[in-house]
Amino acid sequence: MSPQYNLQGKHFTDFFRNGRNLLDWDAITEHKTYKSESLELSLVKINQKRIPILIDIAQVSPETLICFTRDISELKKTEKALKKAKRNAEVNAENQVNFLSVMSHEIRTPMNSVIAMTHFLLQENPKPEQIKNLNILKFSAENLLVLINDILDYNKIEAGKTTFEQIDFDLRDLINSISQTLSYKAANKQIEILIEYKNQVPDIIIGDPVRMSQILTNLVDNAIKFTSKGYVKIEVNAERLDKDHFDILFSVKDTGIGIDASKIQHIFQRFTQAEQDTTRKFGGTGLGLAITKRLIELQGGEILVESERGVGSKFFFNLKFKKGDKRNLESIRDAQFNFSDAPDFDLHGCKILIVEDNEMNQMVVSQFLQKWNAEPDFAHNGEIAIDLLQKNHYDLVLMDIEMPVMNGYQTTERIRSLKGVFKDLPIIALTASTISEVKKQVEESGMNGYMSKPFKPKELFEVIASHLPSHKYTQDKNTPKSTPMSKTGKIDYHKVIDISGGNKAFIRKYNQLAVKVFADFPDEYAFAILNQDFEKLRKIHHNIRATIGLLGLDDLETEIKIGRDILQQDEPNEQAIGQTIKQVKNLCKEYSEYLNNYF
Ligand code: ADP
Repeated sequence: MSPQYNLQGKHFTDFFRNGRNLLDWDAITEHKTYKSESLELSLVKINQKRIPILIDIAQVSPETLICFTRDISELKKTEKALKKAKRNAEVNAENQVNFLSVMSHEIRTPMNSVIAMTHFLLQENPKPEQIKNLNILKFSAENLLVLINDILDYNKIEAGKTTFEQIDFDLRDLINSISQTLSYKAANKQIEILIEYKNQVPDIIIGDPVRMSQILTNLVDNAIKFTSKGYVKIEVNAERLDKDHFDILFSVKDTGIGIDASKIQHIFQRFTQAEQDTTRKFGGTGLGLAITKRLIELQGGEILVESERGVGSKFFFNLKFKKGDKRNLESIRDAQFNFSDAPDFDLHGCKILIVEDNEMNQMVVSQFLQKWNAEPDFAHNGEIAIDLLQKNHYDLVLMDIEMPVMNGYQTTERIRSLKGVFKDLPIIALTASTISEVKKQVEESGMNGYMSKPFKPKELFEVIASHLPSHKYTQDKNTPKSTPMSKTGKIDYHKVIDISGGNKAFIRKYNQLAVKVFADFPDEYAFAILNQDFEKLRKIHHNIRATIGLLGLDDLETEIKIGRDILQQDEPNEQAIGQTIKQVKNLCKEYSEYLNNYF
């Protein structure tokens, strides 16, 4: 410490900012005991400047504490610089994610038109010499879309935004369909795809079938791509961990070109290929394995590869799964909409309003709708849409989400607030974002479903038909129709069914969650009302709003409004308080009973 400094009358802790509090000096002097410890404090210097110090305190006798202090200014500077660098890196990563999302969104929209228009040109009797070029155009456009989706996918994984579903699925079905999808590629090269199951692999497991399919498709697709003769073999082996849990080992083996030992460790890095000429010879971008590896690791597994140049490669990975239940699976299948065999689509006389500011998109959607004999109308923005809806009758609305002035969500909310027929008018979101990005907002704004752009014609038809009464469209007579769903006065269940796409497992899960909400809500409501806690009431109302909207719980909504009015009065009426609490309790009980009895 500085020699000119007068220490007289100063307390040891006066030299530290907050020192007295941090050290609990009274406790030390009273009890005469002190544990050794290290603290970071600021030391106040004469010129009132503060310097960060690390102070180590040790008690050597009941009366004596020894303190060592160290100036940690440099350390702090480094720490600050590191924190700044970390923040910058995070901001950069976030910017990159946003940039790629925006870009991919921008690219997907015109891609929608390219793919769709190619589709039409191919259908409209092109000259034989044009067919080849059109097919190349279609192939390239679809490939470009795969690349855009890959980049977006990788980006999402990197940003930690990937979520994994936990649903029952049939593993053998999934592997068969991957094999079938890729069989034409293999057949072109006269390669056989073999499948082998060892050790009682369970039929039904619980996991994310979409991700599982993505992983295996990447590996099998690569195996076919890099093999010119021989076979590709998918092998599945299970190790039972306990009654319900399995560790499943998957391997994809080929008799292809193999990978040089020196390159093996790099092939899982993004945009990395084993050889310089891989893209030229085989195509691809080097993102597939990077995505595959991340998807496996995020689910707790590991992927490895064994390979010998000129002999072949074997990629293998393991993942843990819980055994599933066949009954869940069958109920999903029963109820799924399945229009895949419909030879001709017909939406004769259906009036459909397309709310879309992008003319190219309008053109594409209307092409399809006209082809199916529907009557499309257009609104360039939300205002016009609302105006048209009030003047004309429409069976359904296709709503773009990103629009200037009023976006699709806001427009939908406005439409719903018009009440009457507009409460039930089917509104389908058309979005260039991935479904998971918009799902929540789509549901909350009161839309009935969504369609990702660019779409396949069949998918567009399916989503439209699934929201129309059956006499409005024609489908193949052999195709099973969705299970008719009942309604009661208090609950309007059809929105849940629309969103589920007829998936009973989804509906069951939804019901379970909703029942829990209805079990908790009455107590929370009573607490908020009895404590006159307006903020709490606002919060629980906000939390349950999506459920109220989705299930059309108008009575509950009214009751919450009554509660809010009561709290706004200077002297709330005791009787009214008791009544509304009781009413909310009864309503929630009734809702739960309905949902519990649904299946
Ligand atoms: P892409 O296939 O698009 O090039 P991937 O990330 O899927 O990208 O694969 C990265 C690289 O790993 C490939 O370019 C190739 O060099 C090598 N590779 C992947 N799978 C195989 C395989 N089955 N046989 C030989 N090489 C492979």
